[in-house]
Amino acid sequence: MPGSFATDTTMTLLTRLRRALSGTPRTAPTQPRPRSGAVSARRRPPALDPALIARCQQRLHELVLQLQAAGQWPASRPVPGLEFGQRGKAAGTAHLGRWLIRLNPVLLAAHPQRFLGEVIPHELAHLLVFARHGRTRPHGPEWRQLMQQQFGLPPHVTHDLDVSAVSGPQFAYRCACRDHLLSLRRHNRVVRHQARYLCRLCGQPLAATSDAAGATPNHQHGITETTHHTK
Ligand SMILES: [Zn+2]
Ligand SMILES: [Zn+2]
Repeated sequence: MPGSFATDTTMTLLTRLRRALSGTPRTAPTQPRPRSGAVSARRRPPALDPALIARCQQRLHELVLQLQAAGQWPASRPVPGLEFGQRGKAAGTAHLGRWLIRLNPVLLAAHPQRFLGEVIPHELAHLLVFARHGRTRPHGPEWRQLMQQQFGLPPHVTHDLDVSAVSGPQFAYRCACRDHLLSLRRHNRVVRHQARYLCRLCGQPLAATSDAAGATPNHQHGITETTHHTK
């Protein structure tokens, strides 16, 4: 299709231009430079099966109905939005203020049952806890109780999905309250002074730590609960 070809070409040129201007990221000198096709594939969420998207939306509706029937759902809240653009190794993230759940399309396509059974309830529980209690510890007692009593699920903080398809270098950062991991893309933006990331829980800026680089927990609320401010 001519349109998508033109877009690919533009992306490739932009990518080359950015690289020429910024040079090789000095934090990962041995990282092999992916071919341009790989870059496009990485930056663009893969096309998901529409039937799978519909199943996820249906599952989310079912869970909200279940919570409504149990008197657990705040009447003022609509069914949360559902997006499929989650990057990195996180299976999904709950975006509290925007009232939406974002799922990782690569991991979803590979593990649909795990998403329907565990990931969507996990993230929905985060939203519901926020609606009822405000900002709390992400996996605190309110969240755990919801997972166990309403969803009948073990309150697992980490997932054990195969993340080899979405693995990349991770960089350890810390705020005032906990550890965070940033992707190479975000880390480079920090190094180049193009962005600053704040912890949503404590509001403090993230600072790189020298230790723990290379630690790769599977579940990454730390990253997704940051905001960035481009100068
Ligand atoms: Zn969580
Ligand atoms: Zn913090």
